[in-house]
Amino acid sequence: MSNAQITVAIVGAAGRMGRRLLACAASLPQVRIVGAVDAADHRRLGDDAGRLAGLDALQVALTADLAAACAPAQVVIDFALAQGVAERMALYARLQRAVVLGTTGVDAAGSEAVRQAARVVPVVHAPNFSIGVNLLFALTARAAASLGDDYDVEVVEMHHRRKQDAPSGTAVRLIEVIEQARGTVPATARCYGRQGVTGARPRGQIGVHAVRGGDVVGDHTVIFAAEGERVELVHKASNRDTFAHGALRAALYLAGKPAGLYAMADVLGIAAEAAR
Ligand code: NAD
Repeated sequence: MSNAQITVAIVGAAGRMGRRLLACAASLPQVRIVGAVDAADHRRLGDDAGRLAGLDALQVALTADLAAACAPAQVVIDFALAQGVAERMALYARLQRAVVLGTTGVDAAGSEAVRQAARVVPVVHAPNFSIGVNLLFALTARAAASLGDDYDVEVVEMHHRRKQDAPSGTAVRLIEVIEQARGTVPATARCYGRQGVTGARPRGQIGVHAVRGGDVVGDHTVIFAAEGERVELVHKASNRDTFAHGALRAALYLAGKPAGLYAMADVLGIAAEAAR
């Protein structure tokens, strides 16, 4: 991580994550917020971004003008919603801005736009920026490889009632990690919830369950169950600052990096461990 100060624009700045990104950035001397963007119909447009996050004024007004807000920034941190993500990524590439993308629920066209942008600028797109969850990915890979399909795997996630996408991006990544470790063909063995007369559980199936309610920031459990025992790997986020700090760490990592699609494991230096 470099000690030089970087300039950052936050996109989705008035949202739950955006406000925590503003607040956490304000406590980091290596980061200066120079832009704050939200949707064209947001009622706080024009307000100071610092005040929005419950801080002293930052002298940066919340705007819907994405290009103008990104112009003075070296790195864009985007935690806006999935709709319009392809257009936003194309703009960041055109402006030559490094991108930390936290948005989940991105469809195939959006994912392709992320890959295209990463040919031009450095990008980290992670479903979860917490250090603990990235360790959970590594532990899950290891457990799935060691236990094999004698153990039934179920992935259970719970989030707050306002979450827009299901299953969570983190749960999707956990499933991919399990499939890679087992060597199964993606998507064929996934079972999203159960209802009715389902019959016995097929060997090799991966059950996926999205629970919604209240203000839960993000819980993920991976269950490996066999005859006579089960292993559960559990992560619970108790506030959003864990994601915000990880995203800011990714922004500092990207400054000065060549174009490419980087993973959070690269940022945290746990890529080799995750692959073991
Ligand atoms: P939120 O609804 O509270 O905030 C999203 C904000 O984006 C809103 O203020 C909305 O007005 C704004 N927005 C919508 N369209 C926009 C546009 N075109 N330009 C700029 N702003 C726009 O949601 P949230 O809980 O803050 O989550 C935001 C996203 O981040 C979701 O996709 C969520 O799943 C994801 N998320 C990722 C992580 C991670 O670690 N990767 C962690 C938490 C949340």
